[in-house]
Amino acid sequence: MDIQTLHAFEDNYIWLLRDGRRVVAVDPGDAAPVLHYLEEQHASLAAILLTHHHGDHTGGVADLLSRGPVPVFGPAGETIAGVTVPLRGGDSVPLPELQGNFQVMDVPGHTRGHIAYYGHGALFCGDTLFACGCGRLFEGTADQMWASLCKLAALPGDTLVYCAHEYTQSNIRFALAVESGNAALQMRAVRVAQMRAENRPTVPFTLAEELETNPFLRCGQAEVAASAERHSGGKLSAESKVFAALREWKNGFR
Ligand code: ZN
Ligand code: FE
Repeated sequence: MDIQTLHAFEDNYIWLLRDGRRVVAVDPGDAAPVLHYLEEQHASLAAILLTHHHGDHTGGVADLLSRGPVPVFGPAGETIAGVTVPLRGGDSVPLPELQGNFQVMDVPGHTRGHIAYYGHGALFCGDTLFACGCGRLFEGTADQMWASLCKLAALPGDTLVYCAHEYTQSNIRFALAVESGNAALQMRAVRVAQMRAENRPTVPFTLAEELETNPFLRCGQAEVAASAERHSGGKLSAESKVFAALREWKNGFR
């Protein structure tokens, strides 16, 4: 199985899983780049996977379905037009056209029903985990998001993470404000600056790299906790509280 990168809007990624001429689209917020790809490659759409209900992830579904029905997998906990197979954590998603199979993980926080897909060494996590960052808490609580991130962080370190936005460079600016003494983070900042200067995607990335550099996965580290406490002005008694303080801080960070 091959994974292709499509760009949409300002900074969204639409991921295409491909085997031969059969393609599965993940979070097609816009139909146009998907249709263009299918036409150019003489390929056909086999299914759609959705992580959550936001328009920049679902906006292309109706248009894609108007060209012919395909199964649309999405979170059972959210109402999304076009979903034919509602999914919950623990479900599996067989994709016979790609000889693939993904496991569904419940990852509430950014939205209440947000799900992620894990399989074949790849994780499609929508707006939950970003490179050096995490999604905003639009519907869920900090505790929910923290639990979701911990679940993702427990996957094998060589897992390739396919998140839905190119936010890495601005996330790294915040990460450096939190943990300026992190050498791995400093090195990643240089590498990412180079990649972005060449207009290359910084996604996918490995979970191992996140564990070394993403402050939101490093709430147990002394420097991260100390920065969060300095910013929030009080002792933070648990990693989940450090996480909540970091998320608050980042919301107002420029
Ligand atoms: Zn979103
Ligand atoms: Fe999004």
